Amino acid sequence: MAKEGMWVPSTIQKLVADDMTAMGMKISPEELYAVNKSSIKDAIVHFGGGCTSVLVSDGGLLLTNHHCGYSRIQAHSSLDHNYLEDGFWAMSKEEELSNPNLTATIIQEMVDVTDKVLEGLDENASQSARSEHIKAKIEELVKEVTADSLLNAYVRAFYYGNQYLLFKTKVYKDVRLVGAPPSSIGKYGYDTDNWVWPRHTGDFSVFRVYANKDNDPAAYNTENVPYKPDHFLPVNVSGVEKDDFTLVYGFPGRTENYIASTSVEQVLDVLNPLRYEMRSASLDIIDAAMRKDPLTKIQYSAKQSRISNAHKKWIGQTKGLKRHKAIAKKDSLESLFKKRMTANPEWSKKYDGVLEAMAEIDGNITPLNIGRNYFIEFFYMGPEILRFIGNFKELVVMSKDESVSDEAIRDWITERKQKLGFYKNYNADIDRDIMIAQLPMARQAIKKHLSVDIAPLMEGDVAEYVSRAYGESVFTNKERMMEFLENYNRKRYKKIGKDKLWQLSVAMEGMYFSRVKEPITVMRSQNDSLMRIWMEAQMEVLPERVYSPDANGTLRITFGKVEGYVPFDGAEYDYYTTLEGVIEKEDPTNPEFNLPSKLKELYADKDYGQYADEDGKIRVCFVASNHTSGGNSGSPVLDGNGHLIGLNFDRTWESTMSDIMFNPTICRNITVDIRYVLFIMDKYAGAKHLVDEMKLVKKIEEAAPVEATSPEEG
Ligand code: ASP
Repeated sequence: MAKEGMWVPSTIQKLVADDMTAMGMKISPEELYAVNKSSIKDAIVHFGGGCTSVLVSDGGLLLTNHHCGYSRIQAHSSLDHNYLEDGFWAMSKEEELSNPNLTATIIQEMVDVTDKVLEGLDENASQSARSEHIKAKIEELVKEVTADSLLNAYVRAFYYGNQYLLFKTKVYKDVRLVGAPPSSIGKYGYDTDNWVWPRHTGDFSVFRVYANKDNDPAAYNTENVPYKPDHFLPVNVSGVEKDDFTLVYGFPGRTENYIASTSVEQVLDVLNPLRYEMRSASLDIIDAAMRKDPLTKIQYSAKQSRISNAHKKWIGQTKGLKRHKAIAKKDSLESLFKKRMTANPEWSKKYDGVLEAMAEIDGNITPLNIGRNYFIEFFYMGPEILRFIGNFKELVVMSKDESVSDEAIRDWITERKQKLGFYKNYNADIDRDIMIAQLPMARQAIKKHLSVDIAPLMEGDVAEYVSRAYGESVFTNKERMMEFLENYNRKRYKKIGKDKLWQLSVAMEGMYFSRVKEPITVMRSQNDSLMRIWMEAQMEVLPERVYSPDANGTLRITFGKVEGYVPFDGAEYDYYTTLEGVIEKEDPTNPEFNLPSKLKELYADKDYGQYADEDGKIRVCFVASNHTSGGNSGSPVLDGNGHLIGLNFDRTWESTMSDIMFNPTICRNITVDIRYVLFIMDKYAGAKHLVDEMKLVKKIEEAAPVEATSPEEG
């Protein structure tokens, strides 16, 4: 089914286009993507590399999710200006806030370069020779594009290396914060409601892209002017009804819809439980600390979201895959494949043994995957000090090296002193407690599977050992760190070496780099080459399926329709929620469900302006059957006319399995209705000028059937 899948907009197959039209799309594929004239693709913006956003005015106004803008809103927040808590609205362009390092990337063109990338490649080349060849070709292709200094470029593999596409982009670097609702609207329901339907979250924030006088990318500069897009989306204020066509245009991050059943088993039995356990341990500590103290709440809010989002997703994913028998389904697909292959000598010659070889790799890679995932969960997502310490490695290396002058070391120290912003959002007690909770888990598993002890000097009680380490370390306290840097001379590197947290950080990295990185890279590359064959094999031997490439962070279209679903026996979910539900969920005793009084007043007065539905209610969110993934956050949801009806921001818990297997009967993406976005901007925030910047359209009614011509008229 074409409804399942994330399609490449530059090469929409006829079959897919026909399905879209049959489901209600009224525009042509050329209106979605064109190169020499403007098209909808010009309004779709990769936001900061991880989310999607959409241009909605000829003044560069950009909408994305609140959770996509969250770390930016947090960075501008303090106890005095708590934009996370109170929201932020620039009432003029002068009040908009700049965001260092935030980028807005607009695709200029997508070109199939498969032939060029594979040109001259020996069919029998080893996987490493193949990778080298491909890498070199890609570099050449990228260089050709970037010779034009206004363009950036990248090439990505599709269908596991059966196809390559080149993306020419413009990367805008001056992206300013224009508005954000308070978290009690933008993140309403917090973790409890994350990945959940029915949902009542106004998950949006507003930015503006700036360009230089030629409308080209430029670093932040007060002289810059609002970007004039080639296309921006008109906004449909008539809303959607059941079965209406929906199209999500954006940058889904990663799906693995074609992996073998043995790989799914590994996710279910090994990886998800490990990650889940590690994150549960840190979240228990962070959540409790955030509840107790308002400053901690600001400091840890973005970090907490980063950890909790995937944590909850993995639980839903595991449940969904098990309940819907993903492994059994994969097994039966693989049996059918084998049956057909065995009956066909040509296929047997090409594909015999591929599944068995992948299963063998899945077996051998398990301990390495365990090591890698503990490295990610402990080193990158766990106690922050482990990563922060990594910044000082260079100092130790320089100090030991006699050819490095004292002056160079002094310069390093001076620079480092400017970069201690880490401590602004750091609480050593919380970090210590996370370490106490996670270290034993990581240590034990790494010992068991890789025979490495990451804390060989640790003995006795973990809590005591870790507490002492945090109490003594120069890294855990800003004053101690300043004192250390002020008085640094090159011999003091020895003091660093004795720091127990330093030792742990070095041991953890050492474990990964000496025991995991190389072998896992080799096995993954073997697996990649098998996946390329397996993908080709499925497409050839099982042609009754339509194959869209797995998500890889590139621009895609997915389509579906507005529809509710049956989550479990005896229940049926409607396709939309209303402000009534927002009010019903309010719980002043629970910080996840507090509501701003202004919103309650608007509700009491029914002061909804033009944003209410025909029944006089404000719709908040709706669900549809689009196949989306992480990265689709902030993606525009379009109606059949290519008009904006909402911002995609989540999936239901039952549908997080779609990263591995899409099930059209239960997988639903969650969208905030654009009318709720406009209502909050206008009525709640008093920022009507932003709504006025957009082009609002009413639903285009179906043309009335033409009456039979009357005889008088001839
Ligand atoms: N809310 C999701 C995310 O943040 C979007 C999705 O995965 O559907 O990743």
